Amino acid sequence: MNNKQLTWDDSPSLKSYTLANFRDLPQIQNFSEQQQFEMEVVGNVLPFKANNYVVEQLIDWNNIPKDPMFILTFPQKNMLKPGHFEKMSNALKNNLDKKEITDIANEIRLELNPHPAGQMELNVPTLKDGTKLYGMQHKYKETCLFFPSQSQTCHAYCSFCFRWPQFVGMDEMKFAMQEGEQLVQYLVEHPEISDVLFTGGDPMIMKARIFSKYVDTLIDAKLPNLKTIRIGTKSLSYWPYKFLTDSDSQEMLDVFRKITDNDLHLAFMAHFNHLTELSTDSVKRAIKEVRATGAQIRTQSPILAHINDDSEMWAKMWSKQVQLGCIPYYMFVVRDTGAQHYFGIPLVRAYEIFRKAYSSVSGLARTVRGPSMSATPGKVHVIGTANLSDQKVIVLRFLQGRNPDWVQRPFFAKYDENAIWLDDLKPALTEKFFFEDEMNILKKTIPNDDYPES
Ligand SMILES: *Cc1c(COP(=O)(O)O)cnc(C)c1O
Ligand code: SF4
Repeated sequence: MNNKQLTWDDSPSLKSYTLANFRDLPQIQNFSEQQQFEMEVVGNVLPFKANNYVVEQLIDWNNIPKDPMFILTFPQKNMLKPGHFEKMSNALKNNLDKKEITDIANEIRLELNPHPAGQMELNVPTLKDGTKLYGMQHKYKETCLFFPSQSQTCHAYCSFCFRWPQFVGMDEMKFAMQEGEQLVQYLVEHPEISDVLFTGGDPMIMKARIFSKYVDTLIDAKLPNLKTIRIGTKSLSYWPYKFLTDSDSQEMLDVFRKITDNDLHLAFMAHFNHLTELSTDSVKRAIKEVRATGAQIRTQSPILAHINDDSEMWAKMWSKQVQLGCIPYYMFVVRDTGAQHYFGIPLVRAYEIFRKAYSSVSGLARTVRGPSMSATPGKVHVIGTANLSDQKVIVLRFLQGRNPDWVQRPFFAKYDENAIWLDDLKPALTEKFFFEDEMNILKKTIPNDDYPES
């Protein structure tokens, strides 16, 4: 990279690049008009956001169009299927007005998102008094997800992310909850919950002052069941200055310290997709600052075509994480929404990449589990492939199940090199998967499934 390398002594201010201003970037102006137009077509459907750190320090502009950080951040033509691309391309060429373009974008988005808005309405958790908690999800017994209304956006929008409906003003798809108190009430009513996972969007987009309010409410409630506060975030990779030089960086670190001083575990679930994101001075320094608060950083990422479908890179990434004091946690399979056709990797191939990487790192990095699908019945782990007498199978287990009793029981699917999601798999040896009948009953009452990878 020939870009200026900032050190952590610098305190850059955040500059965002989106559809509205990406053509201002000199690096983008080097692209042909055709390429810029293609980005605009895709960007009108799949929102994107970059910032000066990503542009100056993570993307290698000498490696376009293949650079993984570029593909992760900026829209690529093939992220839309040809029909969708053409539809939006024609709309722009015909200079349709803003509202017409938004309508077309929303039509395409709805086709990409299998969770219709109404279903979310039906399936939100409720308090005993009947209050619906739109800002929460509670799928697995011990852990509830909390979506603070101030964290419905991110430092950058990962192009594979399924959470984009909430970034683009489709209000009915927005989870939002103002009240930390409702969260506390839910935790009182559900003593089985030990972990609250702050998610979004990215909760680290919140100002320390606001995050602190939620944390205080939780701490002051002195809930005997609450053991862990988790934060799912991509801030370390996309804006490490959040913990270094932003005006509220010290205040945020103080909130972390307050959590650990109150004998709660702070699990910082950091989203790293590529080794490059661990390479700058700023991220290393930020990791140190976060760890110094007593927080434990765990790492997770989906496995993605064009970005990280490379076992050597994963091995290096996990080793680097351990060296920096982070615990590798999950490798996810990219979910069945949005640009899955672009990023998706067959399960068998994901497993091979995982196995190669896993077998070449120290035991300290083998805390990682994957590839794992956050599917409707639960988190399904592809353990491997095997030959059972004359039949080749894929071996699976639940890491988390809608019914906790499903966890850790091996089950088998017919070997299929093309399957990319649980729905593509057929049971082997049995008529049905062991959980299918129960799942069909549960399906009528379940909360929605969206789980942010960050
Ligand atoms: C993954 C996930 C969690 C957290 O699961 P852990 O295995 O404890 O990390 C919680 N809720 C949902 C909906 C999830 O998908
Ligand atoms: S993957 Fe995480 S950081 Fe990326 S856009 Fe989605 S919620 Fe935001």
